[in-house]
Amino acid sequence: MEHAEAAAVFNRDSERTTWHDETLWWVRQKRDKAAHQIPAWEQLRETASAIKQNVLSNLHDYLVSFEYQATRNGVKIHWAADAGEHNRIVLSILQENGITALSKSKSMLTEECHMNEFLGRNGIDVIDTDLGERIVQLRKEPPSHIVMPAIHLKKEDVSDTFHNHLGTEKGNNDPQYLTEVARHHLREKFLERKLALTGVNFAVAETGEFVVCTNEGNADMGAHLADVHIACMGLEKMIPKREHLGVFLRLLARSATGQPITTYSSHFRKPRPGQQMHIVIVDNGRSTQLGRSDFRNSLKCIRCAACMNTCPVYRRSGGHSYHNAVAGPIGSILAPNLDMEKFADLPFASTLCGSCSNVCPVKIDIHDQLYKWRQVLVKSGHAPAAKKIGMKAMSFTFSHPAVYRSGGSIGRKLMKALPFVVNNGLNPWFKQREMPEPPEESFREWYIRNRKKK
Ligand code: SF4
Repeated sequence: MEHAEAAAVFNRDSERTTWHDETLWWVRQKRDKAAHQIPAWEQLRETASAIKQNVLSNLHDYLVSFEYQATRNGVKIHWAADAGEHNRIVLSILQENGITALSKSKSMLTEECHMNEFLGRNGIDVIDTDLGERIVQLRKEPPSHIVMPAIHLKKEDVSDTFHNHLGTEKGNNDPQYLTEVARHHLREKFLERKLALTGVNFAVAETGEFVVCTNEGNADMGAHLADVHIACMGLEKMIPKREHLGVFLRLLARSATGQPITTYSSHFRKPRPGQQMHIVIVDNGRSTQLGRSDFRNSLKCIRCAACMNTCPVYRRSGGHSYHNAVAGPIGSILAPNLDMEKFADLPFASTLCGSCSNVCPVKIDIHDQLYKWRQVLVKSGHAPAAKKIGMKAMSFTFSHPAVYRSGGSIGRKLMKALPFVVNNGLNPWFKQREMPEPPEESFREWYIRNRKKK
């Protein structure tokens, strides 16, 4: 389903849609309060943006430095050109160690690579240990949000899911009770898994270390108990120096959830004695995006999700409607780079209000890029046929004033005499809105009558 169709399905449950909208707006407001408590907030954003700009301009050097330092620390670096290679590398590490089950902390990259499905087909049991991810995994759903994967679900939904899969009391919706059950369930898994997979929030080029941010400590629990730790990262996760973490860690948590700091910001540098540590660095279209001058800035993204929480379209259409691992405004810029045809609908799922760009902690010009993607998609022939015909008709009408004037006049009369011609279910605009009463005359007619004669 395209975004608009999937959003229409989400909107059928208007109570849930309103609740989803209000919940995310509440998170956005928390972000605002946290940001306003730092007088140098705008300066922090500028600095973060400049650091990331520098990283993108010198990415090769930083990656080479990171590989060198990490290898010296005893970490094995793997390079993956695409999702398939990433998945095969992870599988080969599992097979070399004779391991058939792993615990995984939140990693949107592995969602992007469809790793769980791939490993499942190869006989590997993956358990997601982030609470939200575990909930959606039990429901066989993808995450709907990059920071709060189960934000589309209410506590009643979670209660039903846990009752069906973990045997909790039917109808007990107490979050404390449900969390406690999840905690025991996950603890058992942590203790039995020999391999842990984590994502990477920041990789430090000068030291070869990396930082993983979680609120639940699940990345630490998995990595510290496992004999093998695999960390998977997109190649844009680089930052030059450890001192730059002070900029990004302050921005990330405040932008994501309005917290002053993520509960756990865990630094990993080398494997403990007897442990193996692997880092898989993945391209999967990122170098192509780096080469698109209009869109390269999107690689500055630190996946805070502030652009989703503020987006009026995301809030009222839900993350699944974007049919991509990363939803919302940033997902709509990243996805067409991977597959223009499949994701041609996403850059149009925006009002272009610019709220996303206003909150982005690394100052990505998100709404400008959405607008630019529309132009690229239309020029490459990926716009839907109805839109192409409509645009051609509009272009002709706007370039011929006489056609424009008579069209307006006929339209006004038609809307008055036969309103169902416009106000019907085939008109997508009408589906969600009251159509205005047609005016008696056009502005031009009014102007000629009132002003021209004075
Ligand atoms: S684009 Fe900006 S606001 Fe959106 S997730 Fe990335 S860093 Fe956060």
